[in-house]
Amino acid sequence: MSEQHIAVIGAGIVGVSAALHLQRDGKRVTLIDERNPGEGTSKGNAAVLAIDSCAPVATPGVMWDVPKYLKDPLGPLAIRWSYLPKIAPWLLRFVAASKPERVEEISIALRSILLQATAVHRDLARAINETSILKETGWLGVFESDKKFESYQWDLDLQKRRGVPFQVMKQEEIRQFEPSLQPIFRHAVYYPENSYVLDNFRLVREAARVFAENGGSIVKARVTGFHIGERGPTAVKTETGSIACDGVVVAAGAWSKALTAMLGHKVPLDTERGYHVTLPNAQKMPRMPLYSGDHSFAVTPLEVGLRFAGTVELGGLDAAPNYDRAEILMKHGRRMFGELNEEGRSNWMGFRPSMPDSLPVISQGRRYANTWFAYGHGHLGLTLGPVTGKIVADLVAGRESGLDLKPFAIDRF
Ligand SMILES: Cc1cc2nc3c(=O)[nH]c(=O)nc-3n(C[C@H](O)[C@H](O)[C@H](O)COP(=O)(O)OP(=O)(O)OC[C@H]3O[C@@H](n4cnc5c(N)ncnc54)[C@H](O)[C@@H]3O)c2cc1C
Repeated sequence: MSEQHIAVIGAGIVGVSAALHLQRDGKRVTLIDERNPGEGTSKGNAAVLAIDSCAPVATPGVMWDVPKYLKDPLGPLAIRWSYLPKIAPWLLRFVAASKPERVEEISIALRSILLQATAVHRDLARAINETSILKETGWLGVFESDKKFESYQWDLDLQKRRGVPFQVMKQEEIRQFEPSLQPIFRHAVYYPENSYVLDNFRLVREAARVFAENGGSIVKARVTGFHIGERGPTAVKTETGSIACDGVVVAAGAWSKALTAMLGHKVPLDTERGYHVTLPNAQKMPRMPLYSGDHSFAVTPLEVGLRFAGTVELGGLDAAPNYDRAEILMKHGRRMFGELNEEGRSNWMGFRPSMPDSLPVISQGRRYANTWFAYGHGHLGLTLGPVTGKIVADLVAGRESGLDLKPFAIDRF
């Protein structure tokens, strides 16, 4: 029998990782993306491996915050009025996922997969011959406001229940631990398990390069559909022609919904749009990534500069970016570090692929056995991309992954 040919749609961190692992298993793999590898959402994230992040975005009481999200277009979580009718069904599921017993289940599932993420990142760094790209420094969440820190106690309790290690610090300790910060922070939490990559975009580009060097094929084209035979897809249709294959992996990030529908599944996937500002010459560099507990964004000392990244905007895939949101990040950044050199500053917006329960889809199709789905990683796509790629290869090979994959099933809704 000739080798199995798998088409992977999407060359972000998830698709490229899946392609590499499938290739290791001896499959013939074609990676298809309308952009160059890494140029989707994987290009501009905060580059943090957030192993501690086992809380879903929707936490108990979120329902009462929705009016606030609609009122303030520049708040850490904002909903565009014009997008409200479209996202309403997703929001209902989001609120349903915030029930305490559901949050507990989600956090257990997230923790189980997060615990495997660092080892697979180390393996990826070795595979691209760049072991120093992964910085295992931990990260520090900082709080100026007592009130914010008090409400963060809920997160700490959840993390304690999931066995996440952390260390709480107070003012003087924070100053000594991270001297680049202004002395305004009254509370901090250090998470030793977390780490970051020096350049998240280069990571994906290099992984794609190694995949191609090892004989993988990369096709730059927009996927428009599938030829479906008796047992499932037999070819991927693109704008430039068809690619025959034995199986399909959909890893198209926030754009996966329509492709998934063509393969027989309806998924409640939407997008949480996020922004970044990168300062190539900031002249202030923390020694590890930071998280602003007051305003919910990350600060990362990257090779390409100091990056402020985060915030959530529910506004869909088509609306133009609102770069005032990036400006807000910058304003908070100035308060954290004092004066910053903004020469060469760049702004960016990306589309987190988000499921309402904050759990990714990592699953074989139920309609067709030769389809697999890997997307919806929301805030954790860089963290979980490589381990997801490994699990996809396990699923394709029919191997046990050692994880309970039911929480990630495509038909869980
Ligand atoms: C501001 C911000 C900060 C973030 N910070 C972090 C962080 O610190 N840590 C973390 O773990 N995660 C973070 N994330 C989330 C993370 O970036 C995403 O979850 C991750 O990049 C998703 O990867 P992906 O491979 O699924 O999607 P993408 O990188 O978006 O890749 C999907 C690819 O599919 C392609 N595609 C789509 N449709 C088609 C089609 N029809 N035909 C051909 N190609 C198609 C696209 O061109 C794209 O390249 C952040 C996100 C944002 C926005």
